Amino acid sequence: MMRRLTLLLLAGALPITAMAQDAASEATRTAQAELAKRLPLDDPRDMANATRGKIAEIEGAVITGKDGRVVWDRRPYAFLAAEKAPDTVNPSLWRQARLNAVHGLFEVAPGKIWQLRGYDISVMTIIRGKSGWIVVDPLLSEEAAAAGWKLFADTVEAKSGKLPIKAVIFSHSHSDHFGGVGGIATPEQVKEGKIRIIAPHGFSEEATSENVLAGTAMGRRALYMFGSILAPGPAGQVDTGLGPKLSSGTIGYMEPTESVAATGGTLTIDGLAFDFLDAGGTEAPSEFVFYIPAYKALHTTEVVTHTLHNVLTLRGAQVRDALHWSKVIDAALVRWGGKAEVALASHHWPTWGAGEVSALLTSQRDAYRYVHDRTLFLANRGATLHELADLTAEAPVQGQDFSTRNYYGTLNHDMKAVYQRYFGWWDGNPANFNPLPPEQSAPKYVALAGGADKLLAAGREAIKAGDYRWAAELLNKLVFAQPDNKAARAALASAYDQMGYQAESGAWRNYYLAGAASLRGNAVQGTSAGGQSRSFVSAIPTAVFFDALATRFDAARGGGLKGTFQFVLPDSKETVAVVVGGGVEVPRYGMTDPAPTATITIDRKTLDDVMLGQAQFPALLQSGAIRIDGDRTAFLSWFALHPPADPRFNVVVP
Ligand SMILES: [Zn+2]
Repeated sequence: MMRRLTLLLLAGALPITAMAQDAASEATRTAQAELAKRLPLDDPRDMANATRGKIAEIEGAVITGKDGRVVWDRRPYAFLAAEKAPDTVNPSLWRQARLNAVHGLFEVAPGKIWQLRGYDISVMTIIRGKSGWIVVDPLLSEEAAAAGWKLFADTVEAKSGKLPIKAVIFSHSHSDHFGGVGGIATPEQVKEGKIRIIAPHGFSEEATSENVLAGTAMGRRALYMFGSILAPGPAGQVDTGLGPKLSSGTIGYMEPTESVAATGGTLTIDGLAFDFLDAGGTEAPSEFVFYIPAYKALHTTEVVTHTLHNVLTLRGAQVRDALHWSKVIDAALVRWGGKAEVALASHHWPTWGAGEVSALLTSQRDAYRYVHDRTLFLANRGATLHELADLTAEAPVQGQDFSTRNYYGTLNHDMKAVYQRYFGWWDGNPANFNPLPPEQSAPKYVALAGGADKLLAAGREAIKAGDYRWAAELLNKLVFAQPDNKAARAALASAYDQMGYQAESGAWRNYYLAGAASLRGNAVQGTSAGGQSRSFVSAIPTAVFFDALATRFDAARGGGLKGTFQFVLPDSKETVAVVVGGGVEVPRYGMTDPAPTATITIDRKTLDDVMLGQAQFPALLQSGAIRIDGDRTAFLSWFALHPPADPRFNVVVP
């Protein structure tokens, strides 16, 4: 902790003007040109689909919240108008970014299906039912969803007449597909039965738990991965590969009123038949895809998009199952291939034509199958984590279909994810089983290299030769040995610049460039965290809340502590007995201890206030919002041992 403080001061003292980003190197320009030559970048079909049926747009794509705060603004991205990629952007990623930048309200099937695209990282779909509208995936933030709905009302409803929203479908448990629901529907409408909310089975548990326990670290890594700490620009944030970027509005939640079982099946929604196929355990733990026979439309959710997706996302998540993913796509192909006239998804643009839809499903199925099978083919012949990814430059299907290219997930890190799924993080070599941590080994490497100057010279030599991966490996050692070595930081940042420029994946590019910006001390303030609203926080199960609290227990200071703290939540009628001892705390949900150290009476609503940062414990104790019976001192000293996590921890320096 002390070390970090010193570093922050140092970073603040660095002359930022002297730490400007590098231009694209000769090696980078050559790599970009070679890729541009190899790929049919001028294939017009995707752009034709991305712009097809456009009927309106939000001027400048500027979306502001009620308080006037800007949550979405595409004006700084006007540079994407240029058809030819600048040499600081991978030409294939540039193509994808331009496709994702197309924004507006689009008619997908005239009079039947519309989409709002380019107003968040995700896409909102509106389907005409018998008597009203069915909305699929109301974006990440309420402000973006509300602005999108207004555009729809001002154009489509202005012509054909106003109709009620009859149902909302959450296609899966990631917040960019439900967080904006409060922008188009009210809890009262749902309560009164006017709006149905339909989601896959297991949705509530996953939506409100998946990112809670490890949320701080995931959030920190997400700032890097989505490029939220980068300024927009040809040498900065361009796209995420999955969509332009995250909106920075309010993330809310509403509980589904019904769920679709694992067996799938048909559901009539506002007079329209929907056929569901379960896709849980592919891109999300709770997910489905569906087909509307009357419209011959297949909604592929996030199972099939215009990118190779993440088997394991760089922000961190539990590893996904590439084999199951491939099988679900094949099941969709068998069931609806040849019938579906249009495939639309929760990201990117639709694909029209029965033949084209089948071809898309086939390519996507083959991509995930290849990721899985190739990894095990090589692993079963002795290749380890880093070797097998390096041995496999491109899947055959990636050379033929842009939808399978490395825009968000990459073949490289997806194969590593499959390896991890089967074998774990260790490559099987005992030298790597328990190595020294980077901060301990780095100074030894520096000494072995003959000192900092020699290691720096070798790193610079590697940069000159265009060998950026080796340069990063060398210079990272020096930065970890001497984090205040400005020359080392600058050289490492130069290597990251070029790797970022060359990356086809928006996530890789953002991560490298954010690393470079952090090393130079010129990362911008992250803008992705719009904050979770009360509706989201109050949906977090109490059991999950106490498990999350346990992860904050400082065992180093509280190892000797023993006791049982009985929580009673009168408003939600819940009890949790937290047993403390042995350096851990064990929350027993639903239990009442006969002889607790202390009993703490607190409303669940007050706990929500604490989570939202709207209330502090001392004030709550004073006001009587928390009542403590029994050993008050023991409770207070135990509770003080839950220091907040660090949302700004270092990534590229120790
Ligand atoms: Zn998504």
